[in-house]
Amino acid sequence: MREYSSLFFDGRWQQPAGQGMAEVIDPASEAVAGKVPLGNEEDVERAVNAARRAFGDWSRTPSSVRAGFIRALAEQLKARADEMAAVITTELGMPVQWCRSVQVDGPIVGLEQYIELAGKMDEVREVGNSLLYREAVGVCAFINPWNYPLHQLIGKLAPALAAGCTVVVKPSQETPLHAFLLAEMIEAIGLPAGVFNLVSGPGAKVGEALARHPLVDMVSFTGSTGAGVRVAQAAAPSVKRVCLELGGKSPFLITADAPLEAAVRHGVQDVMINSGQTCTALTRMLLPASRYDEAVEIAVDEARSLVMGDPQDPRSFLGPMCSAGQRRTVQAYIRVGQEEGARLVCGGETAAGFERGFYVPPTIFADVDNRMRIAQEEIFGPVLCLIPYADEAEGIALANDSPFGLSSAVWAGSRDKALQLGRQLRAGQCFVNGGAFNYQAPFGGYKQSGNGREWGEEGLHEFVEVKAIQL
Ligand code: NAD
Repeated sequence: MREYSSLFFDGRWQQPAGQGMAEVIDPASEAVAGKVPLGNEEDVERAVNAARRAFGDWSRTPSSVRAGFIRALAEQLKARADEMAAVITTELGMPVQWCRSVQVDGPIVGLEQYIELAGKMDEVREVGNSLLYREAVGVCAFINPWNYPLHQLIGKLAPALAAGCTVVVKPSQETPLHAFLLAEMIEAIGLPAGVFNLVSGPGAKVGEALARHPLVDMVSFTGSTGAGVRVAQAAAPSVKRVCLELGGKSPFLITADAPLEAAVRHGVQDVMINSGQTCTALTRMLLPASRYDEAVEIAVDEARSLVMGDPQDPRSFLGPMCSAGQRRTVQAYIRVGQEEGARLVCGGETAAGFERGFYVPPTIFADVDNRMRIAQEEIFGPVLCLIPYADEAEGIALANDSPFGLSSAVWAGSRDKALQLGRQLRAGQCFVNGGAFNYQAPFGGYKQSGNGREWGEEGLHEFVEVKAIQL
């Protein structure tokens, strides 16, 4: 068990002002896997003040020196990658088959690109009689969810350090342990005091205090749309920059001339990885009516082939839901789907043979109408909706008929056709014919999926102010 009794601010581990400890539950065994302090508003105050004091010097530190710290952090993460992956498997429940590559190695790739991108801060642009300089936005608060915890933390921290910002991090209460391990690494690389500060605690208390704080210049939030709205409201009176990375209900448009089997199997796996707890999960599969029955059979076959089990077992593709609460939410949606008249063709509310752990089996609904709640609301579990469409125009219309716009995918007979369809989808991402995630590309949502961009050069821009000096 990992137990942390201190919070990290001003460059050292300090006694929290908040009373009590929060337990971290291993969702597979339901045992206590760790404990972290329940921080409070006073801890936020101390962390923000430390970040404020550090900002001047850090933002004036040469970009090459900041890049050196990013490189050192990447080296630390590589050296302790197995330990980090084990922590995330324990707190989140993502199976070992995936956890190291997806939750640790990927974020290291994302982190390393900011070694070079830090140099972008030195570029000066001349327009007419003006010189345009890039400057760090200031003190940043990061409020994060639990589903890809290190990925989300590095997606904010790496560009912030590259830009010269100082940060206060609030991890999710479900998965705080990775952030404490990262703070150990920050301490080990000797990052100047106050540049990185960590406060754990409840969102409504610690998160809102950060979003409200007048000395915080920017809040970057990843999580549900509802909490994101509250963060934006809390931040509004101080007119700070607000970057929101929110939920999704992403469509996967498969055309009649696509290789059906490859596309459908790919789509099922995309939803089931991390037990459906992926913001970009392609949970609405749009299928040509002419090939619908065939597609349903393939989807069910693929879902049944995926092994659900103990995250420590290398054969497991899916593990449990992250928490008992998340399992309740997903089970309630499965009941809603049945009440709405969708046809349950695979899975269901309970996982046979699992007495312990927050498991929900891979679940598929056929004959889903896009107006149903299970097609409009984010379920955040291993639940896939199969929706038929008559022609491609209707397929595009159904794909776009959503309050969300985070991700999307198209699989068509040719790349050109898929590209042409993908351009019509209102979403920040589109994966064409099985294209892979790219850390160099900006990531973020349209519509109620958010307003920010993370990763790549666009990710750096979130942490930059532009100053125009007229000569
Ligand atoms: P959540 O909104 O419940 O919590 C996210 C974070 O916000 C947590 O740290 C929580 O403590 C904090 N929080 C909650 N209420 C708050 C408030 N009123 N003020 C300030 N902070 C508050 O989300 P979750 O259940 O942890 O994560 C799942 C959600 O995150 C899903 O909707 C998923 O789609 C979304 N997500 C989005 C992205 C993206 O990049 N767009 C990535 C991953 C997850």
